[in-house]
Amino acid sequence: MKILATDLDRTLLPNGSWPADPGAIELFNKLTEAHDVLIVYVSGRNLALTEQAIKEFGVRYPDILCGDVGTSIRKYENGEWTFDEGWIEQVKKESPRWDALAIRDAVAEIDAMQEQESEHQNPFKQSYYVEHEKKDQVLKKVDERVKGKFDEVIIYSFDSQNGKGLLDFLPASATKQTALEYVAKEYAVAKENVVFCGDSGNDIFPLTAGFCGVLVKNADKQLVENVKKAMHQNPQLKVYFAKGGFRGLHGYYTSGVIEGACYYGVFDCSD
Ligand SMILES: [Mg+2]
Repeated sequence: MKILATDLDRTLLPNGSWPADPGAIELFNKLTEAHDVLIVYVSGRNLALTEQAIKEFGVRYPDILCGDVGTSIRKYENGEWTFDEGWIEQVKKESPRWDALAIRDAVAEIDAMQEQESEHQNPFKQSYYVEHEKKDQVLKKVDERVKGKFDEVIIYSFDSQNGKGLLDFLPASATKQTALEYVAKEYAVAKENVVFCGDSGNDIFPLTAGFCGVLVKNADKQLVENVKKAMHQNPQLKVYFAKGGFRGLHGYYTSGVIEGACYYGVFDCSD
């Protein structure tokens, strides 16, 4: 079996400033149903926002959701979600110094960053909005107060849709990358049979972790540069850059996911 894992916003979901290919989502749903492939959504979205996206865009339910930037894992079977407690136990064991409240206290006085709404926080995710033009000074202060103290990773990304900087503190053992590694291990699927598709910021980790990477054509310039740099340092990395022109699709969003999945042989796309 293979795993097709994909980010949601502006990767599988056509919610950026480029037009969507009509019919691409239906084609994705059809191809994934027709092939023996485990579908994993790996997203910053929580469960409620994921369900909202499924309704709004008509994408199929995944088999597994690595939500909240990888800090939660749920299985979807027979119309029901099951929360993976084993993942929580593993994260606690591997990041023993993680302490969301202590991080919250440590950054409370920093200017130009504001705690996100409560639905974007969980025990393993402490998230902020940052004034993007002040990001360098914010990140410097954050590093001084937090870096290396809480078994954490500090991830900054820029939401090009609304111009907001997003700052996530996560346990180092609970990211999009480690969540996908956990799922692959659970299903005994080797990394070379796992395809991961992304477009921005925090997708850098799974894209450079030894899976088969796919960047949709609308991927952020910064991510493209960072991935190319990583490929230069590690020529073993496999990353496919969607170009479009495949089966009449343009390579953005869902179309890029389909193109990349076909490239790696997840679907038989010869017809
Ligand atoms: Mg995205």
